[in-house]
Amino acid sequence: MKISRKERFFSTLLVTVAAILVTAVLVTWALKPASNQFPHETPDDSSSFTSQTTSSSPTTSTPTESQESETTTVAPTTEATQSSIKSTTASSSKSSARKPKIKNAVALTFDDGPTKHTARLLDALKKHNAKATFFLLGKNVAGNKALIQRMIDEGHEVANHSYSHPDLRNLSDAEVLSQLRKTNDAIAAITGEKPKLMRPPYGAFNRRVTGLAKQEGLALICWTPSPNDWKYQDVDYVYNYILKHVKAGSTLLLHDTYKTSVDAVIKAIPVLAKRGLTFVTVSELYDLEPGDVHPASWAR
Ligand code: ZN
Repeated sequence: MKISRKERFFSTLLVTVAAILVTAVLVTWALKPASNQFPHETPDDSSSFTSQTTSSSPTTSTPTESQESETTTVAPTTEATQSSIKSTTASSSKSSARKPKIKNAVALTFDDGPTKHTARLLDALKKHNAKATFFLLGKNVAGNKALIQRMIDEGHEVANHSYSHPDLRNLSDAEVLSQLRKTNDAIAAITGEKPKLMRPPYGAFNRRVTGLAKQEGLALICWTPSPNDWKYQDVDYVYNYILKHVKAGSTLLLHDTYKTSVDAVIKAIPVLAKRGLTFVTVSELYDLEPGDVHPASWAR
């Protein structure tokens, strides 16, 4: 039986379409684990995160950690976009192998300060020989020179949390750079050194923001875990959350803007210390290069 050109054309077309479909299914399947990781923190937390995303009550132990503040909701990029970004971001594959440099150590991090609660927090950290990392807002630096100098003198790390807390994804390149540079410059004017780390407000960033941060010599630091202390301003809740979730290698996010968070961490530090944990800065705990994203599960 002779096959007409038309039939041959359609059979070729059919085979091509089928091949494209199979490839698409395979690619989707291959990339699925990466996209499913967003935005939880550590691979070993992945099972609990599934339930976190649906919980909102303070009585549940693991509320969602996908946003850093109540004022803005992080709109995740599509899974396809995340996957393609993830697969082409060199720093993410590099960071996936990142291990803590110090055993049994934890990085306590505090955002949005300094505030009226920061001095009391510094007193407690000093008492327990605990070091922390402070992600400061550039607009809060002026007027807090002595406090920031004290952070440096007492061995803490001072880092960049933008100038005025915008969602950096919504800004132009020039505006993102301005947010980062103004804060870096304000901190360097006090400490004599530009920060090496930045935390994007709301944990909201994309590959463009990462590239701009890299240009400014900054690694992006997100977190794992966080009790969403901005939402649950309750000492017992935050304290219990810390005791339950903080472990060796954790990068705990809290805000020294809340008295409840400061009270909770002051109460938790000696308990964690009794478990053998020590408290170091993010840069002491992890080797990070400009443009790196930490924890690796946040890379996108
Ligand atoms: Zn913040």
